[in-house]
Amino acid sequence: MNEIIIIGGGASGFIAAIMAAREGSKVTILEKNDKPLKKLLLTGNGKCNISNLRGDADSFRSNLPDRARTLYERFNIVDTFAFFERLGIYMTEKEGRAYPASESAASVAKLLSLEAASLGIKVKTNQNVFDIRKDGDRFIVATEGWDYSADKVIISCGTNASVDNAERLISETIAIKYGIKHHKYLPALTKLYGEGDYLEKWAGVRTFGIVKMFCDGQYVTEDYGELQLVNTGVSGIPVFQISRYANIMLYRDRKVKLEIDFFPDCDDEMFKEIIEKIRTNAPYKSVKDSLIGLLPERLVGALIREDFSIDRIVRTIKHFEFPLTAGSKIHESQVCSGGIDLDEISDDFECIKVPGLYLTGEALDVDGACGGFNLQWAWSSGAAAGKAAAKI
Ligand SMILES: Cc1cc2nc3c(=O)[nH]c(=O)nc-3n(C[C@H](O)[C@H](O)[C@H](O)COP(=O)(O)OP(=O)(O)OC[C@H]3O[C@@H](n4cnc5c(N)ncnc54)[C@H](O)[C@@H]3O)c2cc1C
Repeated sequence: MNEIIIIGGGASGFIAAIMAAREGSKVTILEKNDKPLKKLLLTGNGKCNISNLRGDADSFRSNLPDRARTLYERFNIVDTFAFFERLGIYMTEKEGRAYPASESAASVAKLLSLEAASLGIKVKTNQNVFDIRKDGDRFIVATEGWDYSADKVIISCGTNASVDNAERLISETIAIKYGIKHHKYLPALTKLYGEGDYLEKWAGVRTFGIVKMFCDGQYVTEDYGELQLVNTGVSGIPVFQISRYANIMLYRDRKVKLEIDFFPDCDDEMFKEIIEKIRTNAPYKSVKDSLIGLLPERLVGALIREDFSIDRIVRTIKHFEFPLTAGSKIHESQVCSGGIDLDEISDDFECIKVPGLYLTGEALDVDGACGGFNLQWAWSSGAAAGKAAAKI
């Protein structure tokens, strides 16, 4: 019987295990934590944003985005919904984001675990895999306490995003050992750091805005949505969306700057006219008081001084310059960019240099945009790898 070991009992590891076991393989998951699926429980603030119905060319980010898209099609959103329906999970949608109708990540974890148990999949916890080696046709998977033997191995180890006391990942160990091209794991979907005496003053403000990112003075990308201003910098979904690009550039020692438009509903000229009208209608108002019907008062207090001219107010509010002073922290991020290069795997997610070894999920060089694309990548890659590994 085809014996498969899966390293990592997370999202992609579980779907890989279920797919392989349905095809008749004997599957064991080795999980280093005391419980599997811990990260899944955190997803979507506990509601599990399982996928997204509004994917586009930027949904799966990678050094090889076209390849990522092709690989995703091996088990796409339609296949994913069918998989979950068979488990008894029906979807509900909010602005394109798909959630289980139960709105509970715990329910998804439970149903994955029940399905795995029904298929005879063994889940061994507290098993930290530190090496994989070949022994003839078979693989030896080494943990601190035991050497496991298998015909095929699937590495579904995820990344250290959101993990405290992180160690080197088994995907990196194996990449170095077998000369597999890989990209450094860097924080993505996370807040960005800056410095300035206004940070303490704006901490806690939530406001809509456009964030543009510039690298060495050149425009790179932008996003729009609710910003969360914090005492170390800026956060919120638009910042999360661009953070992977910022962190890659900061890692390369490039100068990265954000330009924030805190009043995106009109252009500079119109904003200037609005302020002029307020000042004409109520000359008794201080400069700051003239702005408090337009913007959160704490933001005005943090950024505007009484001696500012109208032109300077427009520049500050609509073109606020925020140089990034440090890279984000992996343990604070939701996912990582980087990982095993997609040219190193076949369409079946099998490692070209080490036949019989498969890779899935975040360990690969794919990070999704915010909104369910990371779990979708985990389901797509895990399912395709599991099915392929089961073939004898
Ligand atoms: C707070 C938070 C919220 C998120 N919300 C969403 C969301 O709503 N939607 C979305 O799409 N994505 C979300 N994500 C991202 C998503 O959870 C991950 O991208 C996804 O879980 C990756 O799946 P994976 O199988 O690659 O890795 P994981 O799910 O992280 O699983 C990897 C597993 O491998 C184990 N492991 C690692 N190394 C070893 C080893 N050497 N030996 C044995 N076991 C090992 C780990 O302990 C872990 O259990 C969120 C992430 C975080 C942190």
